Amino acid sequence: METKFPGFSGIQMIDDGAADGAAIPLTAAPSAAAAEPGATESKVVIVGSGPAGLTAAIYAARANLEPIVIAGYVPGGQLMITSEVENYPGFPDGIQGPELMELFRKQAARFGTRFADVDLDRVDFSERPFHLWAGGVEYRAQSVIVATGASALWLGLDSETRLRGRGVSACATCDGFFFRGKHVAVVGGGDTALEEATFLTRFASQVTLVHRREQFRGSKIMQERALAHPKIDVRWNSEIAEVLGEDVVTGLRLRDARSGDLHDEPFDGLFVAIGYRPNTDVFRDWLEVDEKGYLVVHGETGSKVEGVFVAGDVHDHRYRQAVTAAGDGCRAAIDAERWLESIGLAEAATATAW
Ligand code: NAP
Repeated sequence: METKFPGFSGIQMIDDGAADGAAIPLTAAPSAAAAEPGATESKVVIVGSGPAGLTAAIYAARANLEPIVIAGYVPGGQLMITSEVENYPGFPDGIQGPELMELFRKQAARFGTRFADVDLDRVDFSERPFHLWAGGVEYRAQSVIVATGASALWLGLDSETRLRGRGVSACATCDGFFFRGKHVAVVGGGDTALEEATFLTRFASQVTLVHRREQFRGSKIMQERALAHPKIDVRWNSEIAEVLGEDVVTGLRLRDARSGDLHDEPFDGLFVAIGYRPNTDVFRDWLEVDEKGYLVVHGETGSKVEGVFVAGDVHDHRYRQAVTAAGDGCRAAIDAERWLESIGLAEAATATAW
């Protein structure tokens, strides 16, 4: 059976665990998992299949921990909705986001990672083994790495969805380069929007901040920096009613938030920077979250619960890069292995090829 997501068309869900990047259909159907004794138990269960989760899987698998990745119904994380990735080291000509994640996944599968392409429904971290329920199946884990990421918030317009990757983006660091000499709009009034707008001035000829109120929410220093920049102007009290364009963005239909009046303006791109939502709902009863809902890290990669580790954007609202998430996944896997060693569940001496 092929995976559901077209980005992983190269991976067949076969159950021979072949080292060619094949993924094992742990829970393609609940009965398949139940039929395989021990298939739902592991020393490490990793939740999330973006760069953090899959890097954790590569490291855990190479440490013979036989990890299970609960990958989500749409595996691969935010890179699956990114087009060209030009800042991931090792790809001098750039690589498509979905292709990069397919390579991560093949590499994790090569060392014996097992995948379940289902969403996590519920966890119980009150005792070890920890319990996790996903796709109607119960998993048991001696340690857990939470790498569920964060999702960029979108305006929710049909035209915005249709033109994503065709001029609509939620990541200036990823896509700003493609707007050299262009006029782009950034929607939002917080630090993310101010930062994205300032960053985009390196490429764009003009950056217009579109904000629904007449006061920014972001920090004073970032406001000052943005407002003082000769390439940045602001449309106050403006909402985006529509993203214009058939195949690529050609403009925005703006609504005056006070009068409701509509008018169209030409733009070459739209960066949506209205905040992120960390994917932490399932863990809130067990792990500490900050005021924005991000997981709070204890020590290096730990959490409030011993044996539960945290990696990537689910706690990091500062860097949010594929490469930093991958590095974080590596750290969490090393910490998980050392912790398992310390309680006698993994071979001592860290005899792994880190
Ligand atoms: P945020 O502070 O929640 O700001 C979101 C902005 O988007 C607000 O201005 C909000 O408008 C606007 N917005 C929300 N929903 C909207 C919608 N549907 N349509 C139009 N506008 C909408 O989020 P953030 O900017 O991502 O920042 C999150 C946190 O990360 C903050 O604590 C921030 O300080 C921090 N951060 C720090 C840095 C840094 O220090 N370098 C960089 C980025 C983020 P209203 O103002 O009207 O609510």
